[in-house]
Amino acid sequence: MLAGLSDTSHGRKVRVLLASLWLASCLAHAQHPVLDARLNEIREMSRYVPPKALVALLKIESEARAAPARTKADFLAQLCLVRRDMNQVPEALALAEELVAFGRDKKDNVVIAKALLTKSYVVWRMDQLTLSHQLAWEGEKIANTTSDVPLRVHAAISSGQAYSEEGNFPAAVGKMQTALTLARAHGQPIPKVQALNALAFLYGQLNEHDKGFEALDEAIVLAEQTNSPGRMASLKDTEYGLAVETNQPQRGLRALLAGLAYERQIGAEAMIAGTLVNLSDSYLKQHDYAKTLTYANQALQAARKLNDDSTAATAHLNLGQAYLGLGSLVEGKRHFELGLAWYEKVGDKPELQEVLMEYGASLERAGDMAGAVKAYHRERVLSNELFEKRRQKATLELQEKYETEKKQRQIELLSRENQLKSTEIDNRRLQQRVWWLLAVVFALAAVVVGILYRKVRHANAQLKVKNLELKQQSSRDPLTGLYNRRHFQEFMRSHLQVEKRGAGTSGEEIVGALFLLDVDHFKHVNDSHGHAAGDAVLKMIAESLREILRETDMIVRWGGEEFLAFLPAIPRSGVEEIARRLLTGISHQNIDYQNKKLSVNVSIGFAPFPLVPGTNALPWERAVNLVDMALYLAKAHGRNRAYGVRGFANFEQTSMEDIEQDLERAWRAGYVDMSIVLGTWPETKNAPAPPKLTIV
Ligand code: GH3
Ligand code: MG
Ligand code: MG
Repeated sequence: MLAGLSDTSHGRKVRVLLASLWLASCLAHAQHPVLDARLNEIREMSRYVPPKALVALLKIESEARAAPARTKADFLAQLCLVRRDMNQVPEALALAEELVAFGRDKKDNVVIAKALLTKSYVVWRMDQLTLSHQLAWEGEKIANTTSDVPLRVHAAISSGQAYSEEGNFPAAVGKMQTALTLARAHGQPIPKVQALNALAFLYGQLNEHDKGFEALDEAIVLAEQTNSPGRMASLKDTEYGLAVETNQPQRGLRALLAGLAYERQIGAEAMIAGTLVNLSDSYLKQHDYAKTLTYANQALQAARKLNDDSTAATAHLNLGQAYLGLGSLVEGKRHFELGLAWYEKVGDKPELQEVLMEYGASLERAGDMAGAVKAYHRERVLSNELFEKRRQKATLELQEKYETEKKQRQIELLSRENQLKSTEIDNRRLQQRVWWLLAVVFALAAVVVGILYRKVRHANAQLKVKNLELKQQSSRDPLTGLYNRRHFQEFMRSHLQVEKRGAGTSGEEIVGALFLLDVDHFKHVNDSHGHAAGDAVLKMIAESLREILRETDMIVRWGGEEFLAFLPAIPRSGVEEIARRLLTGISHQNIDYQNKKLSVNVSIGFAPFPLVPGTNALPWERAVNLVDMALYLAKAHGRNRAYGVRGFANFEQTSMEDIEQDLERAWRAGYVDMSIVLGTWPETKNAPAPPKLTIV
């Protein structure tokens, strides 16, 4: 029971299968009837008896090389595979390359596809599996561009085998089924047998043995029609594999024996050697040591003839085991060592390890404990070595993985750092932009505020001017420009302190004085010359008052044609003189109005201010009232004159109320001292009525 042997057999089966596929695909395209027929005859030989085929092929070489393209291609392909199977691998590779170049030169896809598939089988033998698979797939692609169905079936099977070797079984099954569908549609038995055999083998690998047997049975029925012992042998080989896997040793044996018979019919030495070794293995499993020895010895002879060391080594191991089983320790050990030597030579240590285990067990069964211990010890050493190797490999892989992960982490770290930096830069840019924006906004705001500030300042200045104007307007009379009554009242209320002024430089008393003027018969001016003339007269009077009085004196337009003058500081004796100047100053003034000379007189009431009738000074309102009463007297006594209240006498015998009730009576009764100033009349005017009382 040597698992290694069975594996070796399987490897060979695939190779056989690939080579067998090749045969049919070349049948379909005859170009040179004589040579094509000859090549067809050789084909079966090429597949199963390469040395004979080589001789036959070399005989027609020069003729075949000169033949039409496809005939030449068929020849080159057969020669290539024959050399490959005879272990002339470099020569085989050279032929495959030649075929590829030839196909490309001819631009013939049928030839190119065959060339690529042929090369795929050669490099497979060279253990370049990846390249072999790529060539198979490329060959399939190109084959599918042609209408050559057997070629396409063949290519699909090769492609499926490549997938199964890559472990892609679903794809492999798909390809085999494609091949079978194509073959069934084509109708010829050979492509169908090829597809079914490949499928049966694949199902065996997939442990779907029922399906495998089913495909195989159909293939056998079809193959029997083709009269090809080689093909039948190949199918029996597949059956043997399936039987072993399904634990049917008897069926396996029958298949091997049947296969051997087919192989012997055509003298297929290589296949015979393999079948013999499988037979010895089968009998060994049944502990039939005699038959094991028979077949193993035959296998050994066949392998030696073929220089097939691998099969020879397997035969030795089977011989060794059989001899040990029969109790021949020396013979058994000798064969075992011969077999082991080959495994050691090719360096297949796992296989060697298994063989050593088997060796030890066989020795143990044969009673050679020392030998068994030795074998086990060798196995241990190897096992430790293998373990160490596996450990080292695992460590290396782990290290590699760790390094890769470390690098990956570093890359990730760097890229994260990079991201961080670029984000930072973006942020900074954004910040800068925000700052710029703020600066612009502030600048604009400053400009706007500046403009607004200037506007406000301007408006304030204008407001000030307006306020001033307004104030002036509210305190001035618009016609004459003099202060109005309201202003005078405010002034008196807020500024004037009623107090004695004291004495002047000459020692005379300095007093204030109030003069109230009223234009005489002013209505007459309006009536005779119009209101505008009246206005002109009023303006003229205002002008005269300004001329006559000082700047420090307050001149007020008191009413329509009434004026009030308040003189804050004059000598007491100068009051009447002022009254006189007012009377004459105004009456001597003429104005030209519409070529007419107009002049007016005024009547005046006056008094020093403050007025102190008893102990207390009169409030200014009562003083003005008294002056108004004096004015009334002036009017009543003839106009163009001034009546002034100079002072009070015997005030304790009267009261201010009495005086204010009737000034004239109080004057006559001697309580009030009054002065009278008469105005002068120009020639044209009437003389004033004579004064009734005191004339100053
Ligand atoms: P008397 O000598 O008694 O004072 O007589 P009079 O005509 O001056 O007095 P009266 O009170 O009868 O008339 C005053 C007139 O003054 C009446 C009014 O039309 C006029 N007057 C008042 N204000 C103005 C003014 O601003 N312009 C003009 N043109 N006339 C005015
Ligand atoms: Mg009046
Ligand atoms: Mg008047």
